[in-house]
Amino acid sequence: MNLHAPQAIFLIGLLPYVAIRSVYRKRAAGATTTVTRSNQRDRFLVLLVVLGQIVLPLLYLFSPWLDFANHASPSLAPWLGAATWLVGLWVFWRSHADLGTNWSVSLGLRSTHRLVTQGIYHLVRHPMYAAFILFGVAQALLLPNWIAGTSALVAVALLCVIRIPNEEAMMCEFFGQEYRDYMKRTGGVIPRLGTANEA
Ligand code: SAH
Repeated sequence: MNLHAPQAIFLIGLLPYVAIRSVYRKRAAGATTTVTRSNQRDRFLVLLVVLGQIVLPLLYLFSPWLDFANHASPSLAPWLGAATWLVGLWVFWRSHADLGTNWSVSLGLRSTHRLVTQGIYHLVRHPMYAAFILFGVAQALLLPNWIAGTSALVAVALLCVIRIPNEEAMMCEFFGQEYRDYMKRTGGVIPRLGTANEA
């Protein structure tokens, strides 16, 4: 079992992440989906993220199976990891709070869907994926194992590269010029410095 302070921080950090998701999943459960862009590839990406964020870390923490990939870690890494996780949690919570019932785990639109451009969405179009990147970096810093440490980052990188173009194409299809204008004044996962306050 690989359960020392940094790994315990990771496990404790998972709790608010799962709690935030459960609260907003319940709130969005009543909203009807009228458009879906979910396909096998998109569902596979979601599965990869769960594997990278939860399954592989738990395997590393509670079994010896991934021990062959353990590595040494600088003493500052757990502190940086904990701080990055906290920032990730804040970004994740704000994304869910601002997106409300427009959120769905798979790509789609609700019957009452509206384009959210305020709150954290004023700065970036994909704050939830940005939070996943922050969680991925924190995981790499907290879990000194080449597989369990990097698995979330790899999965989330794939999610961003493959899903974002499809998601933005769907948003352009349904929100047209409004979304294209929104794209012009915001960054994807990193704020576009200097232009966030325009329009
Ligand atoms: N990419 C966003 C949202 C992820 S949840 C983020 O990282 O924060 C995925 C769902 O959110 C999509 O199916 C889409 O319907 C919805 N969505 C994405 N951006 C949105 C926006 N600006 N306003 C309303 N809904 C949005």
